[in-house]
Order: sequence, then C-alpha cells, then structure tokens
Amino acid sequence: MSYRIGIDLGGTKVETILLDSENEVLFRHRIPTPPLQTGQAPETRYLEIVAAVCSLVREAASQIPASTTALEKISRTDAEPPKPGAIPADVAVGIGIPGILDRRTGRVINANTTCLIGHPLQQDLEAELGRPIAIENDANCFTAAECVNGAARGKDFVFGVIMGTGCGGGLWANGRIRSGMHGIGGEWGHISIDPQGRQCWCGNRGCIETMISGSGVEAGHKERTGQALPMRDIVAGFRAGDADCQATMQAFFADFGRALGGIISAIDPDLIVLGGGLSNIPELYTQGVARVQDFAFHPGIQTPIVKNELGDSAGVFGAAAIGI
Ligand SMILES: [Zn+2]
Repeated sequence: MSYRIGIDLGGTKVETILLDSENEVLFRHRIPTPPLQTGQAPETRYLEIVAAVCSLVREAASQIPASTTALEKISRTDAEPPKPGAIPADVAVGIGIPGILDRRTGRVINANTTCLIGHPLQQDLEAELGRPIAIENDANCFTAAECVNGAARGKDFVFGVIMGTGCGGGLWANGRIRSGMHGIGGEWGHISIDPQGRQCWCGNRGCIETMISGSGVEAGHKERTGQALPMRDIVAGFRAGDADCQATMQAFFADFGRALGGIISAIDPDLIVLGGGLSNIPELYTQGVARVQDFAFHPGIQTPIVKNELGDSAGVFGAAAIGI
C-alpha cells in the first residue's frame, strides 16, 4: 500500500492520520466524538458516529498528494472512473474502536461507547465507504503501533497492556495482531482471579481489571481506608510516606506481579509493553516488575516489561498499521 489511513474512535474524540509508505505523517486531524444529546436515541448517535468516521477517512484521503492520485488514476485504465469521495485502491484503512468486534457475528460487543453495541460497524462502514476496512479493539491498535513504530519494534511475540481507567491488552505474533476466534484475544483484564473480589461490570468477580486499573486501585484504597482518593493522590501519598497509600500501592504491585506473572507463564512473550495512565508511574517498572518474578513459573524471568513510546498517538498509528 502506498498510503495508510488510521482512525482512532474514542469515547470523547475521533482522530485520523494519513501516513505514506515510509510511515511519515502527511495529515492528522482530531474532532470530538458526536456526543449523546439529551433525549437522543442511541441509534441516532450511532449513525452520527458512522458518518463522522467516514467523513474523516475521506478528509484524510483528500490530502494524498495530487501527483500520486493523478498517476493512480492513469494506471487504472481498465477500471471504472473513481466515484466522487472514493478512497484510492492503494490506500489501506484501519479503525480502532473502544470495544470488540465479535468475529462470529460481526457485531460490536463490550464497548464503553455503548451506542456501538450490537451494530455491525465494520459492515456499515464498508458499505458507506465502498471498500474493505480493518477494525480492531483500541488495545490491539495500541499493541500494533508499539510493535511497528514504538517500544516493541523488532520483536516477534509481544503482549501489549493498557492500564488506565480499565485494563485491556493485545497479542502480537509474527507481524500481526492475533485477536482470536471471538475477537477477545489479549483481554487479560477480565481474567477472574479472586472469587471473593469486587464485582466487575463484565458480570464476574475479582477480574484483574477490578484490581490493577486506576478505578480498581482507587476502589481497593477506599475499601481498606474509607478514603476516596484519586489515583494520583494515592501515588503522591505513597511517595510521601503515607502508611495507607503505601499499603495500597504494595497491594497494587503484588496484584500487578500476579497478573503479569500469569501472562508470562501462559504465553511467555518476548516483551511486554505497558500503556494507559498507570504506565506513567515509574515505580511500576521497579517495585511492580520485581513482583512479577514471584508469580511466574520460572526462577529467572527476564521478560522486558517496558513503557510505551508513542503515548496518546499509539491508537491512531496502530489503526493505520492494521489497515487493509
Ligand atoms: Zn471483568
């Protein structure tokens, strides 16, 4: 492909990027995700989101240098003339979504932008754009981006982790994302490891997400101390020597070690790359990583566990990377 268009569809913003074959950024644009208006049917918001995504794809395609599109048109002598707004054939398009496309039904499940749930989003976008596109979960896009352009460059077998408000992940093997039979590959956040643990929104108790996401650590701190503190204050208290915050963070590091130690025992990746807000806590790479050894099924674990390099940009670069 000569060009790649990536779309990062999030709950609050939609971003597009146009890359050339050298991965140079030619165009980038971010708009707010159409919000849910008071009294609006979810179906209407869904259609607005589909329209916004298609308009950003077309906007990015319109930024392809004119000389190339002219050449591309000349080379298509046997094809019908392109329709207005059509995306040239040598452009790959990929979209990252805040949910999972169920590979069995083609419909969106587990989306925190809930108006997407139940809709055949890929089918609807392909019909509107008149061409195939790729869709992946946003954590898979994060992982793809870090493998192609970021901290996991050059590694064959990578587990990508997002620890933010929630807890997601993606699995990269032999040059591509492996989203699995159902599309849930890498969703380690909903492995239930404590039947007595907190209720998770997915229906189970004691999921990893209820322990080591930002919201999970905050809930644990409140249970232990009665204090409702945001994650940043818990981290600040930990550094300042506050005993309650230190207890919460030690529990967090142990749970992090238990969760990632289990992943290493199960799949033994070449590298684990961390993203999301909690990946910015430096102590996670010292005290947190030190606990992984306690729970992995090998006496000398050497798996690099590293911070992402692309930050907020991973979603849109990853969407471009998975494009077809
Ligand atoms: Zn869960």
